[in-house]
Amino acid sequence: MTSRWANEKKAVVDTAMELAAAGLVSGSSGNVSVRLPGPQELFAITPLGKPLSGLGIDDIVVADFDIEPVEGELTPSSETLLHVSAYRSRPDVGAVIHTHSLYASVAAVAGLEIPPLIDEMVMTIGGPIRLSRYAFPGTQVLADNVLEALGDRNAALIRNHGAVGVGRDLREALDVCSLVERAAQIYLQASLLGKVNVLPIEVIETQMELFRMRRKAEDTS
Ligand SMILES: [Zn+2]
Repeated sequence: MTSRWANEKKAVVDTAMELAAAGLVSGSSGNVSVRLPGPQELFAITPLGKPLSGLGIDDIVVADFDIEPVEGELTPSSETLLHVSAYRSRPDVGAVIHTHSLYASVAAVAGLEIPPLIDEMVMTIGGPIRLSRYAFPGTQVLADNVLEALGDRNAALIRNHGAVGVGRDLREALDVCSLVERAAQIYLQASLLGKVNVLPIEVIETQMELFRMRRKAEDTS
């Protein structure tokens, strides 16, 4: 029987493949979810323990916000609590991606937050990329700590672990995760050169204003 969420599940599969192809995840690490349309609070998420590069539509799990399964045979991702917490606390979030991308992970291990370095970062992420406090993987404490670091922005680093990116849709969340990795790489390599010039404060303020205006326009559209 065809799933009523076949299109959304296919989009999760395609995004997972793109993430893997871009090298933002390795092995069965990383996970992707999308909020499903409709009155019920549901989401579709990648399963536990399967490489993102080789998923099929039937591997994608649909669950409600209490993580009760609605469709699919497999167990949802080990970081499902993080995804659900993002949907619960941020009505603007339509998709969540968690990566273990290399340079973001280096920053998360080194205890670094990534300041606004490049113009697109503020416009896309909404400010600096903050670093969460440490918590054990897969726990509600991890989810709470990451949501605290995320605030109203679109990305955060997960201490000693990786990164998370959110967006209105999967495309935006994927773009955010790619940019997090790029910003982390630029930051760490500039640090090695001994010279990191953050954007001027007035530029950051103007770009923050544009980020907020864009989000507000989307909220009311
Ligand atoms: Zn992880």
